[in-house]
Amino acid sequence: MAAITNDDQVLVLDGVAKQYGGLAALAPTSFSVQRGEFLTLLGPSGSGKSTLLKLIAGFESPSSGGIWLRSRDISGLSPAQRQLGMVFQSYSLFPHLTVAKNIEYGLKRRKWPSHRRRARVAEILAIVKLEHRAQAVPAELSGGQQQRVAVGRALACDPDVLLMDEPLGALDRTLRLEMESEIKRIHGELGTTFIYVTHDQQEAMHLSTRIAIMNNSQVVALGRPDDLFRNPPNAFTAEFFSDAT
Ligand code: ADP
Ligand code: MG
Repeated sequence: MAAITNDDQVLVLDGVAKQYGGLAALAPTSFSVQRGEFLTLLGPSGSGKSTLLKLIAGFESPSSGGIWLRSRDISGLSPAQRQLGMVFQSYSLFPHLTVAKNIEYGLKRRKWPSHRRRARVAEILAIVKLEHRAQAVPAELSGGQQQRVAVGRALACDPDVLLMDEPLGALDRTLRLEMESEIKRIHGELGTTFIYVTHDQQEAMHLSTRIAIMNNSQVVALGRPDDLFRNPPNAFTAEFFSDAT
């Protein structure tokens, strides 16, 4: 199967599907993501959001279909080989390492020389506004600060695409709103391509350049937030948004 890609398309999904035994966790799904986009997968629990993100990350392999990253077929690559940034709940901070060492971790694995690592860690600490906590360990930080470290660690290697699965799910409302603004600012400043999972409509409306609405293992609508809101293409999308207002 060949996908037609161009330089602006960072990621292309062509008929990607996932079955677990008889259960379709993801029906065949095709879309492409432009460089610098903030694409949010939005839908209720069990709709297939995490499955889709894990297929992109390489934690799961598709039952059919293909995935291209910068025109390269990545279906056969391990998560590490894909070199994507990830903020997953199951992929937590190293508790015994300082903030600086957590951020530095991926740079070491990629064998960056120490002077470049130091400079990059300083840059990332400034981006996530944690310069003053560089030597703290995760347990000494608030939930919001820990999430900022996770975002910083994911950003450190300057990934083509940053994947985030409900990164604010465990935070209280005040922290959520604060982190939401931080993520929006980072996207604006760095122009990194984000693929972001949430079940929170407000969060999706606030952050996204486009939203893929998921229900029953399918992407049922894909478009710009205001277009989806004003002209919902189906009843599910209309109802889903009306719940939020
Ligand atoms: P969401 O992230 O939107 O809550 P998921 O992608 O986690 O949804 O799940 C989609 C569907 O796939 C659900 O019905 C879920 O139970 C099923 N599923 C997910 N992972 C597995 C797995 N490892 N084995 C079997 N079924 C799974
Ligand atoms: Mg999920």
